[in-house]
Amino acid sequence: MNYEPIKKPDIGTLSVKPNLSDYKKLRQDFRWEDIRRELDGLKGGGLNIAHEVIDRHIKTALKDKTALLWEGKEGESEKYTFNDLYKLTNRFANVLGGLGVKKGERVFTYMDRTPELYVCLIGALKAGAVVGPLFSAFGPDAVKDRLKDSKAKVLVTIPRLVKTVHEILGDLPDLEKIIIVNRRKRPYELKALEIKYEELMDVALDAFETVKTTNEDFAIMHYTSGTTGKPKGAAHVHQAVMGHYATARYVLDLHPDDIYWCTADPGWVTGTSYGIFGPWSNGISQVVYEGGFSANHWYSVIEKYKVTVWYTAPTAIRMLMKAGESVVQKYNLKSLRYICSVGEPLNPEAVLWSLRVLGLSFHDNWWQTETGCIQIANYPVQDIKPGSMGRPFLGVTAAILDENCEKEMPPGKEGNLALKSGWPSMFRTYWNKEELYKSRFKGQWYITGDRARMDEDGYFWFVGRADDVINTAGHLVGPFEVESALIEHPAVAEAGAIGIPDPIAMEVIKAFVSLKDGYTPSEELKRDIKNFARKKLAALACPREIEFLPGLPKTRSGKIMRRLLKARELGLPEGDTSTLED
Ligand code: ATP
Ligand code: MG
Repeated sequence: MNYEPIKKPDIGTLSVKPNLSDYKKLRQDFRWEDIRRELDGLKGGGLNIAHEVIDRHIKTALKDKTALLWEGKEGESEKYTFNDLYKLTNRFANVLGGLGVKKGERVFTYMDRTPELYVCLIGALKAGAVVGPLFSAFGPDAVKDRLKDSKAKVLVTIPRLVKTVHEILGDLPDLEKIIIVNRRKRPYELKALEIKYEELMDVALDAFETVKTTNEDFAIMHYTSGTTGKPKGAAHVHQAVMGHYATARYVLDLHPDDIYWCTADPGWVTGTSYGIFGPWSNGISQVVYEGGFSANHWYSVIEKYKVTVWYTAPTAIRMLMKAGESVVQKYNLKSLRYICSVGEPLNPEAVLWSLRVLGLSFHDNWWQTETGCIQIANYPVQDIKPGSMGRPFLGVTAAILDENCEKEMPPGKEGNLALKSGWPSMFRTYWNKEELYKSRFKGQWYITGDRARMDEDGYFWFVGRADDVINTAGHLVGPFEVESALIEHPAVAEAGAIGIPDPIAMEVIKAFVSLKDGYTPSEELKRDIKNFARKKLAALACPREIEFLPGLPKTRSGKIMRRLLKARELGLPEGDTSTLED
């Protein structure tokens, strides 16, 4: 499928000049050492993420700038300056010190997106702990696996989730304290191991000297989304902040006057790298919305806070598309100037939709929990080729390797997407899985597990996860291509394509489709969708079978779980479903 490129804007006409003005030149001149010099560092020590995102601003005019604009799910609004966060995070670091938390010990959070979550994560980094944010919609098994694997010593949670934690306490011998944040002051009686956040914070001091961390000390661990199997704990070090800082500036194009909104929850890497560290290390004001997805709420957040830069995910964009254009018309979204997407392949149709409906194109970018920061991206000053992830970030070398991950493939050829090791935010291990970690490297290359190709202009095109690629009659077909064609059909909201065994072709393609509101499944609609796909796709890539589902199985971070579609289709065990959405 070929789409006309969306032409880059004429820089002269832009009221805000992009931070990245000349990709080729900046790529040549870019040095990670220069980025390090723009950051502060601890006195006599290395980097500490908390110091770079909050403390260093206290010495500057940013001290009284609004850092956090919080919109609660019960309609509350609160504002916090960098100085407010400085004091609160110092207090929480003192609280942890008082509980005997030492450098390198794990402090986990399991709570909603309230200001306390941000205070606790940053305060714990100051205390030298390794933080582990858990998504508040996780059930007991997901929480148990992660707390057990990481041997977390302290957990911060909220009354609503305590029951889940107590169900699994018997399996968590390393957990010493549970801190209960009760911001809405619900009646609450403490149980075993529990202490009250508010009481501890009331008596904690505002001053704290950040624990001396080195660049290479562990700072944060994130479990992967579990799309392809059991989630792995990717551990990152303090110097990762160099990556967050640089990419927030050059890819998300953050400027001092921006109001930025990242919709991801800090339980996933996007919600910390770009929902905390990237924007705040650049001194940017950001919105946090506690509530979940709803087209009306989301648009009203943009309108109310006059959001200028918005970072979201394909699954949300598809839901906004499904909600329709009439909802968009109800809101004034004119403040938006730059919009980006990550997490899954962004179907070309979504880029064209946003251009038509919002007057702006979504800029897709690619990275993983493991890479810690954006690696491949579309930039404000380049043409967008709808369906492409864009080009490597300034300090990053990406390549397509052959089947054995040895030789680089020429442009146009599909293969394994690999990155040259050595960028600062790269993960340093999979927690307790060092062998698995090592297996992801071959020579100088980190093998991403995704398949892609690069075109003559150096743009990268996602084909599929290595595990999801379909082998039909000796040809490899990526599900993304099939799904993107299907969702162009007016009735189709979402699609997931898998390979099913076939005696002749080895595999043929089966697509699962969920329909937009107002459409009902029928044999006729199936035929119509198949015919539609035939016009868009090569014969081999056309789905042989279509099945309608009310919704597709997804991870809680919104990724289509093709492995589950396949297991269910073939009657095989479902494997790890701890991140499966309800
Ligand atoms: P697991 O590793 O547990 O199976 P996961 O790979 O989904 O889960 P994440 O680290 O959250 O966990 O996601 C990274 C993956 O998401 C990438 O390897 C890629 O497959 C997909 N992805 C992210 N952004 C994009 C994008 N812009 N285009 C295509 N795919 C993307
Ligand atoms: Mg992965």
